[in-house]
Amino acid sequence: LKSLLNDPGLLETRAFVAGDWIDADDAATFEVTNPARGDVIAQVADLSRVEVARAIDAAESARHAWSARTGKDRAGVLRKMHDLMMQHADDLGTILTAEMGKPFAEARGEIGYGASYFEWFAEEAKRIYGETIPGHQPDKRLTVLKQPIGVAAAITPWNFPNAMIARKIAPALAAGCGFVGRPASETPLSALAIGVIAERAGLPKGLMSILPSSRASDIGKEFCENPKVRKLSFTGSTEVGRILMRQAADQVMKCSMELGGNAPFIVFDDADLEAAVAGAVACKFRNNGQTCVCANRFYVQDGIYDAFAEKLANAVAELRVGDGLADDVQLGPLIHDDAVAKVETHVDDVLAKGGAVLTGGARHNMGSNFYQPTVLAGVTQEMRIAKEETFGPVAPLFRFKTEEEAITMANDTIFGLASYFYSRDIGRVTRVQEALEYGVVGVNTGIFSTEVAPFGGVKQSGIGREGSRHGIEDYMEMKYVCLSV
Ligand code: ADP
Repeated sequence: LKSLLNDPGLLETRAFVAGDWIDADDAATFEVTNPARGDVIAQVADLSRVEVARAIDAAESARHAWSARTGKDRAGVLRKMHDLMMQHADDLGTILTAEMGKPFAEARGEIGYGASYFEWFAEEAKRIYGETIPGHQPDKRLTVLKQPIGVAAAITPWNFPNAMIARKIAPALAAGCGFVGRPASETPLSALAIGVIAERAGLPKGLMSILPSSRASDIGKEFCENPKVRKLSFTGSTEVGRILMRQAADQVMKCSMELGGNAPFIVFDDADLEAAVAGAVACKFRNNGQTCVCANRFYVQDGIYDAFAEKLANAVAELRVGDGLADDVQLGPLIHDDAVAKVETHVDDVLAKGGAVLTGGARHNMGSNFYQPTVLAGVTQEMRIAKEETFGPVAPLFRFKTEEEAITMANDTIFGLASYFYSRDIGRVTRVQEALEYGVVGVNTGIFSTEVAPFGGVKQSGIGREGSRHGIEDYMEMKYVCLSV
């Protein structure tokens, strides 16, 4: 992998702890593999709670001087991190594809997306406004200060190895917090590369640590039990989110949770058919279906169902599958065996219960982690795929008759992250966007991710918002000051 990089210094396999690059105290390492080929690409330092506690101590010490600096001053460092990420986007994209599998063009796009959070929150660092409130008594002057919460800890998943941690680091540092983060053990290299960039950008020593470890639950416990940690930000499954919230309860720790989704994608009879098909492909097959906002259920109205099914199946059959580092590939491998097995189970369940394959429907001959891009027809609410997130390249089509029925089925889930629908009727567009119980609604578009908008879920998809001017709030506390004059 090193030989593919212009700047091999970006590939770090040691941990970034308290401002130093270290091996684990017990010299333990874990393997990182390339999911397209299965070969080991790195041996990475495997930390335990001891080193993590040291990182937390360092973040707690460094944060006071950092938050005492002006917003503009902190912004300068964050801006530099953005610039360095963009300057090294090719190398960072190569590292990302090697450890995660997504096509290089998408990986490079993710680097730009991750970097955009540094740019955005550099700007927001200067706009942390408090409030003055007219007093409730003649001698009282009331003000509200916004102050950084303290050390923020983050746990992130493998599907966006750069962007998921970037959008936690950037607001935390902008707010004036210290930061400790554990990336998923499948994909630690992209997060460690951000450590290299932070160091080059002149971030104060110890303020931020990147803590690779195969011992996920141990590190989670240290984050929740260490009294110096005041905030936990997690992106991952609802199942693990629940565990972490329970653990964080003992310290009444403020939590942000970006959890699972089960996104509906509704196509009404009056939709622009071509646009709906293009949106469906972009939304479902991006990252090979491995995003928490990928459409999981396609509800298609009776009158347009057959035409939509045919066009979608034709478009999906043309997607090019391969090694993400090869030219011209649109879909890479899935992350590992378990991911392929889950896709297989969902497809088999649909077929056993009367659904049909329009295209795909089996493993791909590229290798053991590959699955064919698939479209299934005749899917119903009783099938597993209606209830669980597939996290793979499978588009299941459900048929519906009325708007009311579509909304009921779309909301029939414990999740509430992303939703999509296509319609050209202004009345319907207004009604449906209001009726969908989701944190994000894409109307006549399959892609909405941007650092300028608030992203997050309702119901069991999460708590808190990332990005936008609201994103920094999760890393701040309000202090009400009542002054008697
Ligand atoms: P995914 O399906 O994306 O792997 P997970 O919720 O299992 O979703 O994982 C998200 C992140 O949470 C990963 O970094 C994983 O290592 C970590 N994780 C998994 N279990 C725990 C746990 N019990 N405590 C803390 N972190 C965990």
